Amino acid sequence: MNPQWKHQLDAIPFGSVASRSRVFHSAQLRAHARASSSRRHAVMPAIPVMPVMPVVPIVPIAKRTVVFILSERQSGSTWLSYVLGSHASASHLGEYRRPFTMPGHVACRLCEARSQPCPIFHDIHSIPLERAFDYAFERLGSNCLIDCSKQLSWISRFALGENGVPRENNFDLKVVHLLRDPRGWFASQLRRSPLAAVDAIATWQNTNRQIAHFIQQYRLRALRVLYDDLTGRPADAFPRLCDFLGFDFQPAALHYWNKEHHGLGGNGAAFSLLGSLPQAKVTTGDDAFYQQQSQQMFCDDRWRSELQSSDADFLGQDHWLAEFL
Ligand SMILES: [Zn+2]
Repeated sequence: MNPQWKHQLDAIPFGSVASRSRVFHSAQLRAHARASSSRRHAVMPAIPVMPVMPVVPIVPIAKRTVVFILSERQSGSTWLSYVLGSHASASHLGEYRRPFTMPGHVACRLCEARSQPCPIFHDIHSIPLERAFDYAFERLGSNCLIDCSKQLSWISRFALGENGVPRENNFDLKVVHLLRDPRGWFASQLRRSPLAAVDAIATWQNTNRQIAHFIQQYRLRALRVLYDDLTGRPADAFPRLCDFLGFDFQPAALHYWNKEHHGLGGNGAAFSLLGSLPQAKVTTGDDAFYQQQSQQMFCDDRWRSELQSSDADFLGQDHWLAEFL
């Protein structure tokens, strides 16, 4: 690569794929213009015309991608949507299905908490469902959208065409199948309602089997990740996930509260963003905990002190997760 172009590219942060491509392209155009001008004014160029510049492929602008996070509830999908949506080339949508499938549903928790119209999604209720993601790409200016709606009926609208065959979209569709250690997931359920461990694991297993079957049946591009790995050792777990999605791991994205996220999310992960706003609608199941952890990176292992040992032993058996990972 021409050292001068490389210098210009290196000055642009990773993640700015479009910017890097534009600079690279404009540098090529300038070189080509200089070469053309030189040829026009040359006198008797009797020697064969040699290539003026090296043949270097133009860095392509990444194709638009929608990432669907599929998981059981209370498995960290909103948190992961915020973190991935904090990368330079991506945007968090949250449970984006809601304004399209629940008439009158609010489109942005942040602007709701600020008691203001959303500058991004203010007219979302006039957008037909089939344009849902085109609209979000245009409004957010991102190449990668993160949707944690989770419902298979929602992703089916975009993954499958008529007769159940894979649908051709004008964007790439990728799936992140997010699993959570059954012990942490069960403890989260217990904070909301009483439940027997044996019934809980049946629900957890059934949902994750449905997701796995859906991915396999329609041959979707998918990656399985464990919430506990992503929160417990992010430097090891995130690069593989980001590589699958097509962008570099940016550790700063873990501090997702430093970016303004328009969209939906009203659980514990949203507390770091919305907790200080008077009109915020956030349901955490444990407000004191999230107040204490607000705007900090943490690994939620409250199950260690909350679960009965018999439940912890039962749900801690390796085969529950081994079926999927
Ligand atoms: Zn908003």
